[in-house]
Parts: sequence; C-alpha cells; structure tokens
Amino acid sequence: MRVRKKPWAAQYIKDHADQIVTDPETQLGHWQDRFPSEQPLQVEIGIGKGQFIVEMARQHPDINFLGIEIQESVIATALRKLVESGLANVQLVETDGANVDTLFAPAEVDQLFLNFSDPWPKKRHAKRRLTSPNFLSHYQNVLKKNGRIQFKTDNRGLFEYSLMSFNHFGLEFDRVWLDLHNSDGNVGNVQTEYEEKFSSKGPIYELIAHFK
Ligand code: SAH
Repeated sequence: MRVRKKPWAAQYIKDHADQIVTDPETQLGHWQDRFPSEQPLQVEIGIGKGQFIVEMARQHPDINFLGIEIQESVIATALRKLVESGLANVQLVETDGANVDTLFAPAEVDQLFLNFSDPWPKKRHAKRRLTSPNFLSHYQNVLKKNGRIQFKTDNRGLFEYSLMSFNHFGLEFDRVWLDLHNSDGNVGNVQTEYEEKFSSKGPIYELIAHFK
C-alpha cells in the first residue's frame, strides 16, 4: 500500500500515546497492562487503515487486539479510526512485524491475523513475504500452544506459496477456503479495506492453521 506522507501523522501519533506504541520493545511481556482488563490477545500484522481490527474489537469486547503496521501515514489513519470508535480493547503498534519475536514474550499471543499481506511476487523477494519460514518461526515463538494463524488474501500466487510454506514448516491446517465469500467460512467474516476493494475481481482465499 503506497500512501502520500501525511504531515499531521507524527504529531497525531504523539498526541495519542495511550493508544499507540512506538517503542514496542519496552512492552515485552507486559502488553496486557495497556488494556483495561486482561483478556486473550490477538495480533494483526499489516493492519493498513485499520478497518478489520477496529470492527473485530467492536464485535469481540472480550478480546484484546493489537494492530501492527510499519508505515506511519497508514497507521495514523487507523489510529484516527480507533480514536473515533472509543474502543478500549485495541492498541496499535508502529513497527516492523519482522521483529515480532522481540516484541512479545513466548506464548504471549493467542492468535495472529495476516490480511492481504504484500505479495512480493519476485522470487528473490520471497523472504519478505509475511508467510515465509523466517516469519513463521517468529510466530511460533510468540504464539500460545495451539494458537492460530488466520491468513486471507486475494492473491492466488501468495496463497499457493503460503500453503506450501505452512505445510513445510509443519503447521496443521484447521480450515482452507478457496472462495471465502461463497462458503460457510464467510459467517462472521469481517472485511478489510483491500477485501472490499478486490473481492469483485475474483475469489478471496483464507486459511487457518496452528503449530503442532
Ligand atoms: N490488512 C489491510 C492492508 C493490506 S496492505 C487490508 O487488508 O486492507 C498490507 C499492509 O501491510 C500495508 O499497510 C503495509 O504497510 C503493511 N506491512 C507490510 N509489511 C509489514 C511489516 N513487515 N510489518 C508491519 N506492517 C507491514
């Protein structure tokens, strides 16, 4: 996602330091302190403008959500959405999701979401894909036993790669949908910005898996 630099973003982020973290290493092992009550912690990496995580939080007040996004101008828009929502069970983190295992203590995370992650179609960029083996080993470190990864995309190439990558890594698949919107997996599905934009052009793929 490319966006123009937003001149207001840096100050807006500073002004809402109670809802967004920019020095995440300091929170390692203590993320629950950022929320009104201790509840299962679910993390989305690459939240974009935040529609998914804010709506999920609205629908699931018994879960604490943490949204990670690397681009300041993008997360600032998500932050605005969060502030307007008045929800207390979402916190945002401006950082690189590649460092996920330096952000969380082992087993601190209950579930991970990856939505419409950048496909990095060139083979020499495969290591940058959020479903590549290096990332998976980080996820394994921070997820609770049986903690799930839920991944959806409209990009068939990335989905095929991810199925192989998860399989080689030894993850166990709970569900796989090749056309999420026309399947029973669509019940309770919360759409992302990308999903709304691209689902008219072709199917949405989704998988849910956990480490054995
Ligand atoms: N999930 C949103 C946005 C998808 S675009 C949606 O479905 O609408 C992918 C997003 O992931 C972009 O906003 C990009 O900045 C972010 N991203 C890419 N690599 C990342 C990384 N390593 N860590 C955190 N965010 C990342």
